Amino acid sequence: MHTEITKPYKNNIMAFEQPKLKYAFNALEPHIDEATMKVHYGKHHAGYTSKLNAAIEGTDLEGKSIEEILTNLDLSNAAVRNNGGGYYNHNLFFEVMSPNGGGKPSGELAKAIDDAFGSFEKFKDEFSNAAKTRFGSGWAWLAVEKGGKVSVCSTPNQDNPLMPEAACGTPILGIDVWEHAYYLKYQNRRPDYVEAFFNVIDWDTVAKKYEAAK
Ligand code: MN
Repeated sequence: MHTEITKPYKNNIMAFEQPKLKYAFNALEPHIDEATMKVHYGKHHAGYTSKLNAAIEGTDLEGKSIEEILTNLDLSNAAVRNNGGGYYNHNLFFEVMSPNGGGKPSGELAKAIDDAFGSFEKFKDEFSNAAKTRFGSGWAWLAVEKGGKVSVCSTPNQDNPLMPEAACGTPILGIDVWEHAYYLKYQNRRPDYVEAFFNVIDWDTVAKKYEAAK
C-alpha cells in the first residue's frame, strides 16, 4: 500500500502523509467490508490529507504537528478544521482497528474503564449510545485526561476532542459514524455497524495510546 501524498514542502518541510494501513483492505471482513475500506482510506482519508496540506501551505501552520494545529485551532478556519480534523480522526480510526481485534482491554486501561463506567459492558453501552445518537455526521470517542480518567464524548463533522471547546481529553479510540463509513454494507443500520466495530478494536493499540496520553 502506498500513499499518494509525496509532495515535499519548500524549506524541506514535509507534507502530512497518510499512515500506511497495518492490514489489507479485506482484512477486517466481515465486520468492515473491503469496498468500504477502499473508498474510505483511498478516497476520503486521502482527500482530507491532500486538502489539509493545501490549506496550511504558505501559512504559519506549516511544519507544526497535527496535534499542535488542532489544539490551537482557530475554529473559524473551516479548511483546517474540516481537513485537519479529518486527517487526524482517520489516522486514529484506521490505527485502532485490527483483524486480530475484539475482546476487552486489560491492565491499566481496563481499570480506568472500570473506574469511570463501572464495567466494560457499561462503557460499551455508553460509547455505542454516543455513536448511535450522534445526529448526522460525526464521531464518538473514548478519551483520557491528564491523571488517567477516561470518558466518552461525541463530536459533529470532523471535529475532535483536541479542538477548543470540544475538550474531553486526548482521544484514544474513535468510531467514524459518517454514512461513508458504513453505508455500503450496513445501509441505514448504524447500530449494527457500531456493534461490529467492537469485533475489530485493537485494544493493545488503544492501551498504548492510554499510557502515552494519561
Ligand atoms: Mn470517514
